[in-house]
Amino acid sequence: MYREYVQSDANWSDAISRLGRDDPWHKKHGFAFAPLCVPLEVFQMDLHTMLKFVPHAILDQDCMGVSHGILNFPPIAALVRRYAHVIFALTSVGASMGGFGALLHGGDLAGSILAFSPQANLLEASLRPTAASPEALRQMSENMFASIRAASKRGARVEVHCAADEHFLHAMSMPLEHVSLVVHTLLPRKPFARLLDKAQQLLPIFGDAVYRLLRDQPAPAMIRVGCWQRGGDLKRYVAEKGQLLSLLFGPASAELPRPADWFCGTCFRRNMTSHFLCWNCKDGGEFTSPITQAGAARIPDGSCYPRAGDWGCRRCGTAMCAYQWNCTGCGVSKWNPDRALVVT
Ligand SMILES: [Zn+2]
Ligand SMILES: [Zn+2]
Repeated sequence: MYREYVQSDANWSDAISRLGRDDPWHKKHGFAFAPLCVPLEVFQMDLHTMLKFVPHAILDQDCMGVSHGILNFPPIAALVRRYAHVIFALTSVGASMGGFGALLHGGDLAGSILAFSPQANLLEASLRPTAASPEALRQMSENMFASIRAASKRGARVEVHCAADEHFLHAMSMPLEHVSLVVHTLLPRKPFARLLDKAQQLLPIFGDAVYRLLRDQPAPAMIRVGCWQRGGDLKRYVAEKGQLLSLLFGPASAELPRPADWFCGTCFRRNMTSHFLCWNCKDGGEFTSPITQAGAARIPDGSCYPRAGDWGCRRCGTAMCAYQWNCTGCGVSKWNPDRALVVT
């Protein structure tokens, strides 16, 4: 567990939260101050109405007869006016059932919808909202598909990212002629958006969506395979639906990696995280191609294995951590330079 203690005096918001505009600290440091009035009615609305209403509530001082103090504060007003379309365009971002919500509610509002591994065919989804009947679930899915069509008709970008797991099949059930779909060829262990974040892919995808929105570049409705590059770049290769199905699930399909799996720099075979040396590359009873070799590529998972001190057993190939002194696979000592390969 990580815990951080911040002294009251070191916390900018501390005094102002108690003293309000009388706080001497913010005056002394030249901070401007403006009260913000949010009408309570907003919180009683359903989500869809709220999303439609809030942009106007912020932009229109006389809306519902409430004077919004925030607009009397010129920098904020200018900022909100300038970026309102971006702010509300990006309201429609979500993952999993949040992605379903982004697609469902973004249809006639958002300039850009970004959904990560959303459920789509709720009848088949293992995680789904409660509903009175199967028909109600089917109707929810239909409503989401209608929202995608509406967004596309307005020229809004609808971009969906998914991995090659259950969510790929959900994506296949969407009206793909209106969707820019990027399929990432791996099987994530953890929530996909979190994995993208750990792999430094999430922010570039997000930034790309914002950039295209601001430049008014429509999303091409096509299916593409996302190929991760070092440093967070993402190459996208156009694919037909049939090609993709055969690539991922056909008889000649490659075994898809999971996060922390790695590919050998010599034979390019996939290795699981438990291997430090490639299971396929052997010479005279000893494994020869380690994860540290130039050309080996590891699927990011947020951890930094191997670090200095971590090691692998040449005799059985097992991956070991710095604190382990004997191979858990065969007993070889970390201090045996002929058998142990230690990261320096
Ligand atoms: Zn190999
Ligand atoms: Zn061993």
